[in-house]
Amino acid sequence: MSVRHHVSDELLMDYASGSLGESWSLAVSTHLALCPESRQRLAAFEMTGGALLDDIEPTQPASDDEWQKMRALLQARPDHASVNGTQDQTRPAVLPEPLRSYAGGDVDALKWKPLGPGAYHFPIRTGDGEANVRLLRIPAGKPVPEHTHGGRELTVVLSGYFRDGEDVFRRGDFEEADEDLTHQPIAGEGEDCICLAVTDAPLKFKSWLVRLVQPVLGI
Ligand code: ZN
Repeated sequence: MSVRHHVSDELLMDYASGSLGESWSLAVSTHLALCPESRQRLAAFEMTGGALLDDIEPTQPASDDEWQKMRALLQARPDHASVNGTQDQTRPAVLPEPLRSYAGGDVDALKWKPLGPGAYHFPIRTGDGEANVRLLRIPAGKPVPEHTHGGRELTVVLSGYFRDGEDVFRRGDFEEADEDLTHQPIAGEGEDCICLAVTDAPLKFKSWLVRLVQPVLGI
């Protein structure tokens, strides 16, 4: 597996500093669990952050409590157990930690809800209520209806793959979209594409009904 599409520096820094909300952080940490390169960048950010803190002359001595909080923040790491060997290596779990703690370990056992022809979703509850978090299951070879976004959309591929224009997104790949992007991701052939999607506003579909029915009609 080689992850080609990575989380942006900006988002990763927000994550490293602890200022990113839980819902968005779940997308970032799921990508981190599957992407050694992004984990290295995170470690570099954290080292830089630590060095900056060392240089600061505190005007008042920080309390033990404050230092403990800061240390916990800088040491926060995603759980890499699923990547590093506790799982059956021949068939890695579709959902890595920490996502698995939210949704459970078996994607086939989830109570998927119909979303459109052949497509399903599984809403995930997070504590911050900042964004909609869900797993999407798009049938092999079928498109998500063309849409733009009312806000930010983070997507992490968990199994299968999808095409977005010229780009191909595979397991571990991260896509960030916003109001400026109109797209129509298409699930790859061969197997359903399962993604984690986090959005803070409803998608704006174009010709929603037509495009939803199109794959079923095969036109
Ligand atoms: Zn989108």
